[in-house]
Amino acid sequence: MLRSAPFETPVAAGDPHRAGAAPLRRSDSLDAALDSLCGFLDRHARLFVLTGAGCSTGSGIPDYRDADGNWKRTPPVNFKDFMGSAAVRQRYWARSFVGWPRFSRASPNTAHHALAVLERQDRVNLLVTQNVDGLHQAAGSRRVIDLHGRIDRVRCTDCGATLPRATLQEELLRSNPEWHAVPGQTAPDGDADIAEGSFENFVVPGCAHCGGELKPDVVFFGESVPRAWVEQAMRGLERADAMLVVGSSLMVYSGYRFVQAAVRTGKPVAAINVGRTRADELLTVKVSGPCAETLSALIESR
Ligand SMILES: [Zn+2]
Repeated sequence: MLRSAPFETPVAAGDPHRAGAAPLRRSDSLDAALDSLCGFLDRHARLFVLTGAGCSTGSGIPDYRDADGNWKRTPPVNFKDFMGSAAVRQRYWARSFVGWPRFSRASPNTAHHALAVLERQDRVNLLVTQNVDGLHQAAGSRRVIDLHGRIDRVRCTDCGATLPRATLQEELLRSNPEWHAVPGQTAPDGDADIAEGSFENFVVPGCAHCGGELKPDVVFFGESVPRAWVEQAMRGLERADAMLVVGSSLMVYSGYRFVQAAVRTGKPVAAINVGRTRADELLTVKVSGPCAETLSALIESR
């Protein structure tokens, strides 16, 4: 059995299912879970950290999934659809164009800063993030693998040339001067909700070098994470004593496989996540609370 510490069922403070129920005291169960997490850190010196969307919600970047791991919104664009259809690319870039200004202004929150502190204390062996926002690096973390790429970079799907997303934004603005004022909401991958059927006039520039199709330098749904990144991450996990999941429901296999690998090699896994994760049965410690509050309480208690 891997469970060496009390196992928290996902019903502590912060559970949205409790909205409307009697208010929780800063619950004994959350405090107990925090104590378990402190103990976990005391027992395991070098952590392999995996972070997901829940880490960035405190920076105003919304999560993809609800507390049960289901989609909150329309699932993001699929790789095959993007590559196969000019209309899908128009729609993608129009939404991205509208969402970008707000997304690009996002700054790290307490969760990012706390993880950077843990790295400076030499407690974090490697941080692998499923987020594409670059906020761990902005907070000062150095040993980071962006497992799903970076939204602040654009890559040509033909010649491989890259350019900063901010540069493309200027070009999109020049090509679509009537579009800048369209309001929208930001989504986790930096796009925005805008009315359907209004994309056909949106001009999508090609690669400046070869005229090829441009794609954000992120791993789309239906696309594989580059093998070299996975292998590098696995080597980081091998060198770690334990794994800490922060703000991921682990519904996507690209992240879940690291929990499987940790368990296979006898490394205990702790998780901080609002709501359930796909790996709840495999966890040694589970804190069902928001990442920022939990991590800052953890740092303060040390
Ligand atoms: Zn090109």
